[in-house]
Amino acid sequence: MSAYVTNPLRLAILGGTPVRQRPWPKWPSGDKRTEEYLFDVLESGQWAIGGKYRGRKLYEQRFAEAFAKYNNSAYCVVTSSGSAALTIALEALGVKQKDEVLVPGVAWIACASAVTRIGAIPVLVDVEPDTLCMSVDASRQALTARTAAIILIHSYCTVADLDSFVRLSRETGIPLIEDCSQAHGAKWRDRRVGTFGKVGVFSMGNSKLLACGEGGAAITDDLELYDRLQQLRADGYRYRESPLLGQDVLDEVGAVQGHNYSPSEFQSAVLLDRLDHLDEENRIREANGEHLRRLLLELRDVRPLSRNPAIDELTFFRFCVRVNRAAFGNATIEQLQKALDAELNAAVEPVDGPLNSISLYKPFQLLANDVTQAEKDRLDPSRFSLPISARARDECLTLHHKILLAPKEEMTDVVRAFRKLEENKDFLAQL
Ligand SMILES: *Cc1c(COP(=O)(O)O)cnc(C)c1O
Repeated sequence: MSAYVTNPLRLAILGGTPVRQRPWPKWPSGDKRTEEYLFDVLESGQWAIGGKYRGRKLYEQRFAEAFAKYNNSAYCVVTSSGSAALTIALEALGVKQKDEVLVPGVAWIACASAVTRIGAIPVLVDVEPDTLCMSVDASRQALTARTAAIILIHSYCTVADLDSFVRLSRETGIPLIEDCSQAHGAKWRDRRVGTFGKVGVFSMGNSKLLACGEGGAAITDDLELYDRLQQLRADGYRYRESPLLGQDVLDEVGAVQGHNYSPSEFQSAVLLDRLDHLDEENRIREANGEHLRRLLLELRDVRPLSRNPAIDELTFFRFCVRVNRAAFGNATIEQLQKALDAELNAAVEPVDGPLNSISLYKPFQLLANDVTQAEKDRLDPSRFSLPISARARDECLTLHHKILLAPKEEMTDVVRAFRKLEENKDFLAQL
């Protein structure tokens, strides 16, 4: 036999045949109608919000109305990114310099950097091991007289314990911001996430469940907050109530200092189009996600996150599992990530954070010269203890949701890939 015959069981990262050879469904996705909407914006010359009223609503207004309705929320303000939506949510709630804001330890960097950007102090709070969402007990312990807001993330493929956080917010009067950037359309007790706190924030970045490249939104039921969110988003401007033909669509109000966090009409057009597909895509991802969860039960050393029974509709932004690394030759999570991604081509990643030790978080850089040492100390990420977040970073892997848009029977590829890694465990630690 030739020595050059490739062993089909050799790891793909070592030159073997990958478990998954076909591509997964494409993400982000668009179709003929997406093109039509984009072309409509292109031709109209109306590429941004603002300008003279021409007798028809802007795409931003149409999407904002549709997305508010979708979430059964009163109002929506569309932004240029999820980070922008977080920023104006904090500002609209009156969070000021040196105020403290609770942020989970497993979080995208923007959740902390949006806080420091307005001069406030992120207080990093550890997560629950079975959901990777912020722990309510740890949150209670982190509260001080300076706590001005709580940013709660519904992480990966789960919903945080909203009953407990709503109770905490009511008891203390501290407003809750739900960051739903990973959970567009999820339902808790038959109600969409994003409507339990004062403001619900969304990212519509490229990989998100509702995507337009870069984009975001903030939803609220509170008219006053809506008014501030609009002005904070558009340099102090907000929509005129009933504009006449030829009149400016936006009205110069300036009750608060805004900035330009507005989306282009191209972004809003894509969102308006893709929103009509969200429920169907979520339904497929949920069915396949649950199927994959069941399939993985046959592997003792790969455990999906647990599902809270209060979740009525679960979204899968990234399918997240906890791996028993001892069964994989004690390989590091990075070695497992590389090996699994080579088998599956599913943009495999570890979880985000922990925020007390990642290189992207530089809270001291925006500090004024006259801050005291005590203030610096409060900002110092290393003062927070986040053992459960750190452990999640060492043990958990997440897979892109496009795999869950494939036919149900193809979910076995994921199980086969984990099996193959286990069978090759002696090679993993050398990658
Ligand atoms: C993606 C994401 C953001 C940031 O959104 P951008 O659109 O990239 O600014 C914020 N929070 C969470 C939880 C996210 O996943």
